[in-house]
Amino acid sequence: MNRRKFIQKSLFGLPIVLTVPSLFTQCRKENSPKLNGKSVIIVGAGISGLAAAKKLYENGFEVMVLEAQDKVGGRLRTNRSLGFAFDEGASWIHGVNGNPITTLAQQAGMTSIKTDDDSLIAYDFDGTEITEQRFNQIETEYNNVIKTLKNSGSLNLSFEELFSNLHNDKVSNRLWKFFLSTYLTFDTGDLNLLSSINYDEGENLGGDEHIATNGYDTIPNYLAKGINIKLNQRVTQVNYLSDKVIVTHNGSESKADYVIVTVPLGVLKKNLIEFSPELPPFKKEAIQKVGINCVNKFLVTFDRIFWDDEQYIAYTPEIRDKFNYFVNLNKINPNLKALMTFAYADYARLTESKSDAEIISEIMTHLKAIYGNSIPNPTNLLRTKWNSNEFSYGSYSFTAKETEIKHFQNLGQHLLKKVFFAGEHTHEKYFSNAHGAYLSGIREADTIIELQ
Ligand SMILES: Cc1cc2nc3c(=O)[nH]c(=O)nc-3n(C[C@H](O)[C@H](O)[C@H](O)COP(=O)(O)OP(=O)(O)OC[C@H]3O[C@@H](n4cnc5c(N)ncnc54)[C@H](O)[C@@H]3O)c2cc1C
Repeated sequence: MNRRKFIQKSLFGLPIVLTVPSLFTQCRKENSPKLNGKSVIIVGAGISGLAAAKKLYENGFEVMVLEAQDKVGGRLRTNRSLGFAFDEGASWIHGVNGNPITTLAQQAGMTSIKTDDDSLIAYDFDGTEITEQRFNQIETEYNNVIKTLKNSGSLNLSFEELFSNLHNDKVSNRLWKFFLSTYLTFDTGDLNLLSSINYDEGENLGGDEHIATNGYDTIPNYLAKGINIKLNQRVTQVNYLSDKVIVTHNGSESKADYVIVTVPLGVLKKNLIEFSPELPPFKKEAIQKVGINCVNKFLVTFDRIFWDDEQYIAYTPEIRDKFNYFVNLNKINPNLKALMTFAYADYARLTESKSDAEIISEIMTHLKAIYGNSIPNPTNLLRTKWNSNEFSYGSYSFTAKETEIKHFQNLGQHLLKKVFFAGEHTHEKYFSNAHGAYLSGIREADTIIELQ
C-alpha cells in the first residue's frame, strides 16, 4: 500500500463470576434467517469482527459480538466533537478499484472524495520551496532504491541498516528523509525494525485514492445493524478444551460452538487474553514476528486559511518522522479551515507523552517556518495516541525484520476448528488496511459456514 500514492471503559467486573449458559438471549427479528443450531462468539467489533458477524448471522448462526469498548468500529473511529468528521484511524479507501470498502461505503452511506496526489507543494526546513523538478528527481531515485534494495537484504537485517550501508550519502538528506518517512514508514513501520527483504510486501489495489468525508465509522455502524453486540465486555480468556468454547468476559462466561478472535495484534502481543490450551508455537511465533507500528494523527483548525491551495504540503524537518506532511482538509470540505498532520514510529510514540501545548508549539514551528510568524494560532487540536490505546496498542501491522508471509497466514490459522482468527494482521495481501480486515472477517465466516 502507498498512503500518499496510495500516500475504559472497563466495566471489569463484577466481582462475582456469573455463568451464562446460553448467551444468545437477544430475540431474533421475525424476518431473521432460519437458525442452523450453531453459535459463534466474536471477540471485537472492528470491521473484521462485524463483517464476520453479519455474514454468519445471515447464514443462520446465533452470533454474539463481545466488544471491550463502549462503541463499535475499533480502528475505524470518527471524532465528531468539532462538528465535522475527523477520522482518528483509517481515512482513505486505498485504491477504489475492486476494493470491498468501495461497495460497502455505497451500501452504508459513507461519502468520500478523491485525493489528488499530484496536488502537492514541498518546503525545506527553512521554508524554501523545493522545486518540482528536485522533488520529482528524488522521488524517482527513491522509487528505484525501493525496487532494488531488497536484493541485498537479509532476514535479520533491518531496512535502516541496509539503507545506510548502501546509501549512506542519503541518510541525512532532508528530502530523502521525507520520502523514507512519508512514503515508507507511514505505510509500514519503524525503519530500524522493518524487514530489508519484505518491506514492500502486501498488494495495492488500483484506482483512485478516496478519503472519507462523513466518517469511516459509518461502515461499522452499518455492519452492526441487527447484530447482537455486547459493549463494554473485555474478553480475558478463551478456553477451547471441551466441545464448546468458553469465553470469559467481565467475570462472566459465555459458550459457543466457535469463537473468532479479532483483537488487534498489539493486544495479542501483550498476552491480554489467556488461551487454554495455550497457543501453539506457530501462533506465538507469528504474534512475535509480525510488527505493529505507530502512526498518530493530528488535526489543527484555524480561523483563517494561510496555507497553499494544494491537497498536500510536504515539509522536511531534521527529525524524520515529525509533522512532515500536511493534508489540506479545505480541499476536501470547503467549510473546513483545517490541516491534518502525522507523526510516525518512535516520534509518534514520543508525542503521546507531550501536552497539547507542546504539540501545538511543534506543529506551529513547522508552519511558521513555511508561512511566517504572523500566522494565527490554532483554534483547536485533535490528536490520537494509538500506541498507548489499550484496545490496540499500536496502529497497524507491518513486515518487521524477521516477518515472513507465512506469519500472516499463521496469525489467521484456526485452532482445532473451534478458535478462529481475523483482523487486518491476518490478511497476507492486504494486512494493515481496512479492506484486509474486512476480507479477513468474511474469510473466517466462510470457513465456519463450510464446516457445516
Ligand atoms: C492511524 C491509522 C490510520 C489508518 N489509515 C488507514 C487508511 O487510511 N486506510 C485503510 O484502509 N486502513 C487504515 N488504517 C488501518 C485500519 O484502520 C485497520 O486495518 C482496520 O480498521 C482494522 O480492523 P480490525 O477489525 O482488524 O481491528 P480493530 O478495528 O482494531 O477491531 C478490533 C476490536 O477489538 C476490540 N478489543 C480489543 N481487545 C479486546 C478484548 N480483550 N475483548 C473484546 N474486545 C477487544 C477493540 O476495541 C476493537 O474494537 C489505519 C489505522 C490507523 C490506526
